Amino acid sequence: MKSLTRGRIVAIDKARIWHPYTPMRRYIEEVDPVVVDRAEGMYLYDVDGTRLIDGNASWWVNIVGHNHPRLEAALILQAHRVMHCSLAGMTHEPAALLAEKLLPKCGASFSRLFFSDDGSTAVEVAIRMAYQFWKNVGRPEKRRFVTLEGAFHGETIGAASVSGSPVFHEALGDLLFDRILLPTPAAGAHSEGGAPWHEAAFAEAQRMLDERAGEIAAIIVEPLIQGAAGMLMYPASYLSRLVKAARDRDVLVICDEVFVGYGRTGTFLAEHAAGVEADLVCLAKGFSGGALPMAATVANERVFEAFRGGPEVTLWYGHSFTGNPLGCAVALETLRIIEEEMLLERQAPIAAALQRGLDAVSRHPWVRDPRRTGLVGAFTLADPTAKDERKADYLAEPGWRLYAEARKRGALLRPLGNVVYTVLPLNAEIAVVEELYGIIGESLEAAFGT
Ligand code: PMP
Repeated sequence: MKSLTRGRIVAIDKARIWHPYTPMRRYIEEVDPVVVDRAEGMYLYDVDGTRLIDGNASWWVNIVGHNHPRLEAALILQAHRVMHCSLAGMTHEPAALLAEKLLPKCGASFSRLFFSDDGSTAVEVAIRMAYQFWKNVGRPEKRRFVTLEGAFHGETIGAASVSGSPVFHEALGDLLFDRILLPTPAAGAHSEGGAPWHEAAFAEAQRMLDERAGEIAAIIVEPLIQGAAGMLMYPASYLSRLVKAARDRDVLVICDEVFVGYGRTGTFLAEHAAGVEADLVCLAKGFSGGALPMAATVANERVFEAFRGGPEVTLWYGHSFTGNPLGCAVALETLRIIEEEMLLERQAPIAAALQRGLDAVSRHPWVRDPRRTGLVGAFTLADPTAKDERKADYLAEPGWRLYAEARKRGALLRPLGNVVYTVLPLNAEIAVVEELYGIIGESLEAAFGT
């Protein structure tokens, strides 16, 4: 195949491709995109040969490093057998092996998994299951969903409806269904920043549940870290108390582990750190080793039982690619890699290196609220001299100034507003983590002075 020049790829891209979460005029006129040629471990390589550390694990999906040779091999092997068949009235070995291996890792209470395509659809499925569960058991009045302020659960209309971020609700208005919003337990979201913030948030949750449990189908929550809200972290004790409070009042719990699952925060599921098992768990991103769009919603037996019947209780749902054999094969291999390379057990020194990096850059006056959970590190940029931190122009925001400096020095650090974060794969090399934080330190100085 004849290769295009870098310039030609960019020209076609700018003429033809509509990019996600991107103000397009600015992109077309000003942005010099990275043109990825290949990837390996924590590195992405531009076609011009530039090597960049992938500081955000390619939108948080990359869990065992780019192009892990075992994932490549599993994919090729499966491709020679069957690339796709439906899961309607059919099944296949990779799906069976994956289900058998995954469910016990999620927890003893989980007995079923339902395949879908990505984080949004994994959430969409969970919403439908929770809604229909109550209809199936004869309590259709329990039909509302509760979410946390700032929460992000995906892009589809259902998943966006249960998001707590005002962005979607402002943009999509009454296209979305209404949700009940609880205060976030994450202190970083509030200028007070005090530890007891989550106490107040829990008291509010309890009050709401006392009043309204009879109309609520489920609470949906991102365990430990509200990712898209700005890597806002909160203690596991809030989650364990919230789950107990919901259970005591017969409200289902959906843990959206799309970002935090698969060991990112130190345990296989983040909810394990709180000693809880939700009724429904949404898995994506790391689920397929970050290699293919593939996801699953995991359910406990109580939920599944309500659907074990005829057409009147059936979950009428399924995508074309549900249970795709290639996706199942890489998802299975991802679990084997995590197990056999003992990636959860070997996380402590990587987390320590990340902490050292965060500690070092925290000395810079623009760095506020440095925080870490497992292999996710973040801080907020704030001008120490400014009274008004609000900004109009997205490329001029401090996060993007840091992005530009870091890119020149060999790291990709896509910010969330003024929040700068790094998401490491479970097998991150310590030397690369040190290199990454060295670049962040230098970039802070270049962008904002010392
Ligand atoms: N839930 C959470 C917690 C997420 O962080 C995301 C994506 N960032 C999603 C759901 C949606 O996943 P996807 O983009 O794969 O649809």
